Amino acid sequence: MSAGYRSTAQPVGPSDLHLHSDHSDGTEPPAAVMAAAHRAGLRTAALTDHDTTSGWAEAADAATSLGMTFVPGMELSARHEWRSVHVLAYLFDPDDAELRVITDRIRESRLSRARTMADRIGRDYDLTWDDILAQTTTGASVGRPHIADALVARGHVRDRGEAFGGILNPASGYYVELFAPDPVTAVSAVVAAGGVPIIAHPAGRSGLLPDRLLRRMIDAGLAGFELGHRENVEPALGRLGAIVAERGLIATGSSDYHGRGKPNVPGEFTTSDDMLARILERGSGSSAVTP
Ligand code: AMP
Ligand code: ZN
Ligand code: FE
Ligand code: FE
Repeated sequence: MSAGYRSTAQPVGPSDLHLHSDHSDGTEPPAAVMAAAHRAGLRTAALTDHDTTSGWAEAADAATSLGMTFVPGMELSARHEWRSVHVLAYLFDPDDAELRVITDRIRESRLSRARTMADRIGRDYDLTWDDILAQTTTGASVGRPHIADALVARGHVRDRGEAFGGILNPASGYYVELFAPDPVTAVSAVVAAGGVPIIAHPAGRSGLLPDRLLRRMIDAGLAGFELGHRENVEPALGRLGAIVAERGLIATGSSDYHGRGKPNVPGEFTTSDDMLARILERGSGSSAVTP
């Protein structure tokens, strides 16, 4: 346990448990993300940068000085066959050795993969690795959004959306796959670190993960699903809602705010106090921080 104390936080909503800062592919520092959450009327917020916990301290200070409760989190990259699976992890021990081996390896892969993509893109477009570094906060968990920002800065595309629709798409010749553990390994590692794993945007346009994989993740300790997210669509969402009800799982709702990097705004989906209470009860690796 990093902070050396146990959570006594009472659930206070409205809460948004999925926000990104410039420690990964959000465009604002953690303190500014918490300020945006506060302006949106939220009373509890989590920081869930991709594969890193480096923004927690700044976010916790900012949130509590604004009178908000801070929930430490991360969005852990995983993959099933060709599909990326994002595992939101809450209240885990950030110093857990096994989880750190996984996240260190993913972040290294993010870096080398971005370099390779930059080389490939650079054959056809005026774009260098330095252009991408210029869009990336030092030490940040690098992703395709940073390459997108560099393409925007060079005038090759209008915005991140256009970059993802073309040059950065897996179907383009420039795409390089990221190392990521399989979803069951990811869920198990979060649980072993005392954390609470919840699958992010689980009912997107690519449809539900196969039943067998869902069952294996639940057996490995998966706590629930982010049912409230703008990318979820029917019929996958309804089907997953039925599974959540049947298995008594946790359902969250959150924005997936990325600053100016996406249209998502803090508080556009929220998590109920009941569900927040269940997450707070279940997490044992680190603590929510109260004002
Ligand atoms: P990566 O993990 O480097 O493969 O990049 C995936 C990240 O890009 C996700 O965290 C998304 O939030 C972001 N992303 C995906 N599609 C888009 C889009 N159309 N516009 C902006 N950001 C996107
Ligand atoms: Zn992201
Ligand atoms: Fe995600
Ligand atoms: Fe996200």
